[in-house]
Amino acid sequence: MTSASGFFFVRQRRKMAAAQSDRDPSVLSSEFLNFSARDTASRWLAAADLQQEVYRHLAMYVPRILCLGPSGGSSREEQREEQREDLACQLLLLAPLEWLLLGEEPATGLVLLQENNQPSPLCGHVFKVGEPTYSCRECAADPTCVLCMKCFLGSVHKEHRYRMTTSGGGGFCDCGDAEAWKRGPYCQNHTPTASRDTEEDPVSVLPADMVTRASSIFSILLKFSVDMLTWNQEDQLPAGLEPPDRGDTYYCMLFNDEVHTYEQVIYTLQKAVNCSQKEAVSFATTVDRDGRKSVRYGDFQFCDQAKSVIVRNTSRQSKPLRVQVMHSSVVAHQCFALRALSWLGQIIQYSDGLRRILCEVGLQKGPEGEYSSLVDKLMLNDSKMWKGARNIYHQLLMNSLLMDLKYKKLFAIQFAKSYERLQCDYVIDDHDREFSVTDLSVQMFTVPSLARMLMVEQNLMTTIIRTFVDHLRHRDLQGRFQFERYTAQQAFKFGRVQSLIGDLKYVLISQPSEWSDQLRLKFLEGLDAFLELLKCMQGMDPVVRQVGQHIEMEPEWEAAFTLQMKLTHIISMIQEWCSTDEHVLIEAYRKCLSALSHCHNGLPDGEQPISLSVAGHCVETFRYQVSQDKVSIHLPVCRLLAGLHVLLSRTEVAFRFPEQLPLVSYPSPPLLIELPLRCLVLCAQVHAGMWRRNGFSLINQIYYYHNVKCRVEMFDKDIIMLQAGASMMDPNHFLMIVLSRFELFHIFSSADCRKRYREANKDVVQQNNTLIEEMLHLVIMVIGERYVSGVGQVEPFDEVRREIIHQLSIRPMAHSELVKALPENGNKETGLERVIDSVASFKKPGVTGRGLYELRPDWNKHFNLYFHHYSRADQSKAEEAQRKLRRQNGEDTACPPPPPSLCHLFGSLVNLLQCDVLLAVEGAVLQWAVEPSGGGWTESMLQRVLHLVGLALLEEEQQLESSRDDDVTFNYTCKITRPGEAPSTSGSVLALLESLQNAPHLEVHKDMITWILKMVANIKTMRERTSSTFTVSVSHRRGPEETVRDKDKAERKRKAEMARLRREKIMAQMSEMQKHFINENKELFQQSLEELEASTSAAAAKNSPPSSDSTCVSQVCVGPRRVGGAEPASCVTTLCSCTPTCRWASTPPADTMHATCRVRQSVARWESLSATGYADPVTPGALSFDTDFSAYHRCPRSFGLLSQDSERAFRAGLNTGPRRRSASRVRETQESGYF
Ligand SMILES: [Zn+2]
Ligand SMILES: [Zn+2]
Ligand SMILES: [Zn+2]
Repeated sequence: MTSASGFFFVRQRRKMAAAQSDRDPSVLSSEFLNFSARDTASRWLAAADLQQEVYRHLAMYVPRILCLGPSGGSSREEQREEQREDLACQLLLLAPLEWLLLGEEPATGLVLLQENNQPSPLCGHVFKVGEPTYSCRECAADPTCVLCMKCFLGSVHKEHRYRMTTSGGGGFCDCGDAEAWKRGPYCQNHTPTASRDTEEDPVSVLPADMVTRASSIFSILLKFSVDMLTWNQEDQLPAGLEPPDRGDTYYCMLFNDEVHTYEQVIYTLQKAVNCSQKEAVSFATTVDRDGRKSVRYGDFQFCDQAKSVIVRNTSRQSKPLRVQVMHSSVVAHQCFALRALSWLGQIIQYSDGLRRILCEVGLQKGPEGEYSSLVDKLMLNDSKMWKGARNIYHQLLMNSLLMDLKYKKLFAIQFAKSYERLQCDYVIDDHDREFSVTDLSVQMFTVPSLARMLMVEQNLMTTIIRTFVDHLRHRDLQGRFQFERYTAQQAFKFGRVQSLIGDLKYVLISQPSEWSDQLRLKFLEGLDAFLELLKCMQGMDPVVRQVGQHIEMEPEWEAAFTLQMKLTHIISMIQEWCSTDEHVLIEAYRKCLSALSHCHNGLPDGEQPISLSVAGHCVETFRYQVSQDKVSIHLPVCRLLAGLHVLLSRTEVAFRFPEQLPLVSYPSPPLLIELPLRCLVLCAQVHAGMWRRNGFSLINQIYYYHNVKCRVEMFDKDIIMLQAGASMMDPNHFLMIVLSRFELFHIFSSADCRKRYREANKDVVQQNNTLIEEMLHLVIMVIGERYVSGVGQVEPFDEVRREIIHQLSIRPMAHSELVKALPENGNKETGLERVIDSVASFKKPGVTGRGLYELRPDWNKHFNLYFHHYSRADQSKAEEAQRKLRRQNGEDTACPPPPPSLCHLFGSLVNLLQCDVLLAVEGAVLQWAVEPSGGGWTESMLQRVLHLVGLALLEEEQQLESSRDDDVTFNYTCKITRPGEAPSTSGSVLALLESLQNAPHLEVHKDMITWILKMVANIKTMRERTSSTFTVSVSHRRGPEETVRDKDKAERKRKAEMARLRREKIMAQMSEMQKHFINENKELFQQSLEELEASTSAAAAKNSPPSSDSTCVSQVCVGPRRVGGAEPASCVTTLCSCTPTCRWASTPPADTMHATCRVRQSVARWESLSATGYADPVTPGALSFDTDFSAYHRCPRSFGLLSQDSERAFRAGLNTGPRRRSASRVRETQESGYF
């Protein structure tokens, strides 16, 4: 209903009612009939003190019109009574006000007003409970932006993907708010007409005298209403309102609370006021709806009697129902106050000018200064008012302040200033949030410009978080939240205070497109407060393994998880904010790191330092056992740091401000991984059945830890933290610590320990078997989980796609099932729609009645059995389905899919695959598998080891395919030919695999082992091929059937890959860890050198014409696989000693000219070769990159830093096209060295 028809509707109703009441003369005395609103208004206008006059009028008439006796009884009577009141109110109280305001017949005046009205661009329709609301999933700024049905049907969004919900009441239609919609903010009805400049003050179009009159009348009426609604005396009225003749007439007023049940209230009322059950039900219903209801009318004593019965009857178990005996005049004035507010709300709909005047009046500061405006008074007394009063003034706020763009801002500031106080009132109050003024936060905080302004000017983010933390005072000795001993009241408060997290979410829901220094400052201040909150959560609800007896009482765990779950989106949003500004990101990282150091304070204290050694490596750690010491699943500080670490990796800050990255300082990488590792070990031990006596509470926690609702900021981040830690550590040390925390170290560190265990308790053997499986799975995840943008070189799109592929690998699924399996972001989106059609085909519903998505066959090869989000059940279902599928298609059983390339901050993770400790573990398991199991080892264990071997081979193959042989630092095939080191006295991993290939008890694994051995052979051939002479590679040239397009594609990929690997290699070699690795592998280096020499000289002997160039040790040209068979004979190439595989060509000292000339020749040759189609073309840029280095006598990397000249050339070389960024990456990392 539009405002105009609303008004006329009221008018019409008045006429009808007047006609009706004529038949009932007792209702209106003759005095009332002779009343002239016009004359009254003129008298007021002439008065010296308008307020005094109006109050005198109200004092005289209000008690005579409203609340004239008992209410209740039959509903017909009540209706008539209501009509009578309406009519009298309009004629005697509101009409004079209208005359005064408009200065003429109200009907005419209002029409005139409306002609000059500039309708608000906002629809502002206030939703009733249960009314449908619509939100566009494509265009809404956030899910709180909704449209009413009328606006939705008239908008562009009805053609988009939309979401329909039903309103819980309160809140209004966002049609017309340009900030709420990315596009299509206006429906047909609310498209702005360019009749008046929106910047213009709407008050200026009103006649000046009307402005004056409106100001004073609004001010008087609003003050009256505020005074009356916040009035707390039962028998007195404010000065000037005392009734001329005061009778002994009272009401017994019953107020709503959320403590007592309907039944209790009904029962009590029947006793107290001696009414029928039906009447009692009616009273109770009204109390619940409006917040209060008079249940008895009469003299004071009569009412007071009822009151004492009610109080007595309801005070037994809880605090009694609130009852007041109020003088009828007080109740009457309160009723009129509500009508006055509604009237104000109606009047301002005719004119934006009047609306602004009312806003001004409402926010005008009183004589007491801050917090003294009428609106402040209402808000600060909100929790003391009854529901009906709150509803009416909230609605007025929405129709006035929230519809005026200028005043919305001013109101938001006042709201933010009182925020803490309002929230405290709300937490203590027991009414639902929709009846609290705090619920208006959504109207302001979700407007990005307002939220930003409040954050900068009122420090809103910090205020919200501090207020929240302040409410959770119950802490343990370390200052962590302790929910264990919560009383019912504290639990209730905890439930209410969670709405603050909702407010925080509103503030953070849209990230800033632009940062000011002030915003940075305030956001980081907010982050400090947030870290304080996370610190209170870090380590909460610790558990200790129960041995012997079963736990007696299930410990409380839900509160902590509720908190974690509620904060999940906030944590993600804070990371999103950080990702949009490098300065903020670095500062946030620093702050988070220091918070973590604080949490780690004293972590290794009291723990015995121990030294572990295995496979020729040694690491210092301390004694700690998950199975004996305290461990907690709640580690939000670690996990936020992991999230920020990934962002650093993604946004290239690491390349430009490496000196600002405090990565190497305390906490050291082993400390970074410590707590997440403990948590993962806890899960493994629970799986192994070691925590059975701890009951369901722990099982539930582990469940939620992995659950789609929590895992993004729990399990996923723990894996990332392990990846980050591992990429900063010696891979051997990392694995030793992992083994030690899994309590498996002894099994792999001494040969006979395993034997001894096999003879030990069967349960222990089984436990250890599961732990070994879990440990291997963890290693697979740490190495292989790269589908997070920043860990691997993937986009968020790839991440979602991979989730879907793995869900559909279990079985075909319905849309809703898929949505449930994917994590939602703060906007309730999963990203499913963008991806689904590319990987799945939809099968229309059959008999079962629902359509299913089925994975397209070409995506099957991306299936990874060790996908980290699979539960054990999912895993075995998926394995079964895949096995069946591959058998049908006659394919190999699942071999690992090649993972995406790692981002360079995580680049050294691949070294885990070929480190000595992992090789020792692999060797041990393979050795066990030689004999049929008999419980000593398991199929899953072997399968995991084979998967790891496969991953390593894929890595090596990928590196060989995509770069020069001499760029490949990864040489797993070589390492597995070495015999096992002590304590394993077995043969090499390769030899073991060969012997297992035909073992009859390993039939299931035969395919996999065969695939592995084939890979090894392939890689060997590749290595031989690439290290032999040019002539040899010619023989492997491509067949003519390969199209140029294929070649180009492969070439582009190869070039990108080459640049990446080169960068990675330089990075890796810069690091301390890498040096260590090299030292360890001196032997290997020597070995590969010998191999290389042998192969090249053999090839040279075979392919080159016998000539005088026997001095040529190895001929290296530029570009991958460009081995210089046609090099000038005198060119001597030596090998650089900086790394085992680095083979930078150098020429005799005085021969730089020669180098250049050689390059020129190479370029010429490349050109001619690429023309013939069998050489890999390389961009001239990449050539010069190589060239400049070749002029050095030593590899420039062995100097630690590139010289300026080479650096320039280096950049020049890469400074073409898409590789420009990479160039600066490499350059910057040269200067860092924080690895
Ligand atoms: Zn609307
Ligand atoms: Zn609209
Ligand atoms: Zn839309």
